[in-house]
Amino acid sequence: MNREMPGTAALAGKRAAPARARKRLLLLIAVLLVLLTALNLPAVHRWLPVSLWRDVPPVTSLHPIVEARMKTLVTEAKAQGISIAITDGFRSSEEQEALYRKGRDGGGAIVTNARGGESYHNYGLAIDFALRAKDGRIVWDMKYDGNGNGKADWMEVVAIAKRLGFAWGGDWKDFPDYPHLQMDFGLSIRQLQWGQRPPEDLKQAEAPAPAGVRKS
Ligand SMILES: [Zn+2]
Repeated sequence: MNREMPGTAALAGKRAAPARARKRLLLLIAVLLVLLTALNLPAVHRWLPVSLWRDVPPVTSLHPIVEARMKTLVTEAKAQGISIAITDGFRSSEEQEALYRKGRDGGGAIVTNARGGESYHNYGLAIDFALRAKDGRIVWDMKYDGNGNGKADWMEVVAIAKRLGFAWGGDWKDFPDYPHLQMDFGLSIRQLQWGQRPPEDLKQAEAPAPAGVRKS
């Protein structure tokens, strides 16, 4: 009789199994439904790889808004007697990787901490500037006062750029990048790598807070 006991218990366990399986299945369906609902929320889309649900064409040039602001920057600086040279704009991920290798593979100084795809240049959202002296030389001298108003031209350009919505690389504590200006439109590099893109329309883009809030 005692020997029968385990057998009976096992039988009872077997009878309970289908009920448990059904419960687990229902739970799984519920979790899937919640996930699917969450995936459709725009707020969630912002944090997921866009490439999951559509093709993201590669960026090949400066963002139209950044390009427009760059032109305004050049014009406004000119009006203050400062000639700017734009030394870099859009940079492909391959070009960025080559730049990253500089100073790491061979001799010379390290020029960037950003690998291919990790720079705002790779998404057409950054430019680098320098000053053009009266004799045509490109200068990176941050104290240069070509218009002779007692203020460093470099910082005058930075002030105009910030007013136009650019963030300045010179403000970065960890790796200051003085010629660098960028507009991130509130997007991190991770979001850009995952295919998020800023709006192309000026009015739409102007709705969020001006760039400069977020760095890196
Ligand atoms: Zn730069």
